[in-house]
Amino acid sequence: MARGGSQNWSSGESDARPEEQAAETGDKMVKETQYYDILGVKPSASPEEIKKAYRKLALKYHPDKNPDEGEKFKLISQAYEVLSDPKKRDIYDQGGEQAIKEGGSGSPSFSSPMDIFDMFFGGGGRMARERRGKNVVHQLSVTLEDLYNGVTKKLALQKNVICEKCEGVGGKKGSVEKCPLCKGRGMQIHIQQIGPGMVQQIQTVCIECKGQGERINPKDRCENCSGAKVIREKKIIEVHVEKGMKDGQKILFHGEGDQEPELEPGDVIIVLDQKDHSVFQRRGHDLIMKMKIQLSEALCGFKKTIKTLDDRVLVITSKSASGLSITCERHFKIEFS
Ligand SMILES: [Zn+2]
Ligand SMILES: [Zn+2]
Repeated sequence: MARGGSQNWSSGESDARPEEQAAETGDKMVKETQYYDILGVKPSASPEEIKKAYRKLALKYHPDKNPDEGEKFKLISQAYEVLSDPKKRDIYDQGGEQAIKEGGSGSPSFSSPMDIFDMFFGGGGRMARERRGKNVVHQLSVTLEDLYNGVTKKLALQKNVICEKCEGVGGKKGSVEKCPLCKGRGMQIHIQQIGPGMVQQIQTVCIECKGQGERINPKDRCENCSGAKVIREKKIIEVHVEKGMKDGQKILFHGEGDQEPELEPGDVIIVLDQKDHSVFQRRGHDLIMKMKIQLSEALCGFKKTIKTLDDRVLVITSKSASGLSITCERHFKIEFS
């Protein structure tokens, strides 16, 4: 057992079940694996693994980043909704998708993928969204070294800001008028003849005002934002990754999200995504490293060196061991607390 410096992994919450335990539970018999396949996990996956898989995929296929993958985003969301709920997961494992759709819990319909996403990333649901601008969620890739030593990273974001020239009006002061096409209703009604003496009314969003009910006369529109009230701006934010932060941890930038006229701006939420490390695995406050040794080393002892994440060299010695069996993979646990 080698003990390294006095580095302290600070963490707010208690750590979830170690991943290895779940892997050891082996294959589970389930009726279908489709939902597991969508998330790219095994049917024996732990709740933690399911959360992590959802996190990565949802960020990758979110319509903000991948507008053409709406269907995929929906499937990911549905799979997560079922597998993250122990009751629903049980129903699915036993009866497959059919059982879920028949609604063991009396609610066969799925929640909206956006609501699931907002709940997961702390966006605060639809009600909060209406009074505030949209939250922007970004994934930030970090190494285990970054989390161990701390690091500051710069991230370039695109965001909507209120147009300075027109102060969010979209044109000259007083140039906003009731939409002449829909007369302020925001909707247009079309009447279609579908048979002799039969007509059908179709309601569509007004093309002139896009449902706003008001518009700005084209000749009065702000040149800077072309009447859109906001402009897209590039902004660099500095993300301070502190020592001991964890994979999946969120860093909040309050009020740095998209701006919209008359709304409080949303937040920017940075989600840390730790890349796998070639030597160490993290488990809570510990780093785990697996080392294969020769039979002769197991019997006669050995001396090896390990490079730590902050570039120190630890020497590990093992005396000729009586307790080591031939198949032994001895775990050297390096504690940093
Ligand atoms: Zn209109
Ligand atoms: Zn403008």
